[in-house]
Amino acid sequence: MTIPQSDVRGPAGDDAGDMHSPQQPQPVPHQPQSQDPHAQQPAPQHAPGTQYAPQPHHSPASEPAIRAIRLVKTYGEGEARVRPLDGLTLDIAAGCFTAIMGPSGSGKSTLLHMLAGLDTPDSGEVILAGTPLTGLSDARLTALRRDRIGFIFQAFNLVPAMTARENILLPSQLAGRTVDRTIVRRIVDRLGLGDRLHHRPHELSGGQQQRVAVARALVTGPDVIVADEPTGNLDSASGDEVLGLLRASVDDYGQTVVMVTHDPQAAARADRVLLLADGRPAGELHSPTAEAVAAALTRVTAGAGQAGGAAPAGAGAAPVPGHAAGTTHTGGAR
Ligand code: ADP
Ligand code: MG
Repeated sequence: MTIPQSDVRGPAGDDAGDMHSPQQPQPVPHQPQSQDPHAQQPAPQHAPGTQYAPQPHHSPASEPAIRAIRLVKTYGEGEARVRPLDGLTLDIAAGCFTAIMGPSGSGKSTLLHMLAGLDTPDSGEVILAGTPLTGLSDARLTALRRDRIGFIFQAFNLVPAMTARENILLPSQLAGRTVDRTIVRRIVDRLGLGDRLHHRPHELSGGQQQRVAVARALVTGPDVIVADEPTGNLDSASGDEVLGLLRASVDDYGQTVVMVTHDPQAAARADRVLLLADGRPAGELHSPTAEAVAAALTRVTAGAGQAGGAAPAGAGAAPVPGHAAGTTHTGGAR
């Protein structure tokens, strides 16, 4: 992807001040609107230029937002060979907040990249919004990803030469979409970025950079938000804001969130927690408390491959380790 380095003017206006201007909102994708919980939920619709019609899901019982079927991914050769995904099958329920946890090196980031179509498995299939990704042309895959997915990376992945505001608006601009300034403003305010919009990433703290990345993922109104440790570099107050926004994306707008986290408190904000070990599912919890998540993670980590790392390649015949966490309904509070 070619990223413009110069002074990019986003479609929402030329500076942050424009975001304050009273504007007639234009048709936009469904958006989190958590500051106004009593507001009518707008009819979800994508702006012109969108290739895929949005199909918001409001019930966990509907078709999964993403299906992963027997995913295998192997890296390296010989002794260094690892298989972070070892025949993994799972569904990401639409309109749900799913957290994925597991020991370091258990393949969580690898899995998220596959789910979002950013990388391809050696074998197996990912079905995103009913579309199998295998065999899609690069152009179609790019369009599907752009229209359906918002990705929040562990390492922010902001464009250094652009201001916070330019970074936030970049995906919409690349897609040729108009964004609703009111919505941008709401997300920016919720994330406490209002006075940082003209700063470049190197002028921002790690927490601020991550909040810019969160705003960037949300302003396009994706059906699915895929987040790799989004609160890992945030202080607890900033982390709470990010988690609250992700929660509101699900509760208020029926978006789907998949989030990898190490933090049991963060995972407890999810509807469902999937545990991974040795490249396979190792249990799940529904509406868990932080304590239940921490206990399950401890059990899974203790039972995972010797150093708690990814499965050695060739370990595919080994039994799934334990389903240590089992399936638990602990009824924790949000
Ligand atoms: P997690 O996110 O659960 O910590 P990752 O998915 O990042 O785990 O990595 C799983 C395993 O795959 C690790 O052993 C890691 O070193 C390896 N791995 C991940 N990406 C690559 C890559 N691009 N090249 C080689 N090995 C990789
Ligand atoms: Mg990771």
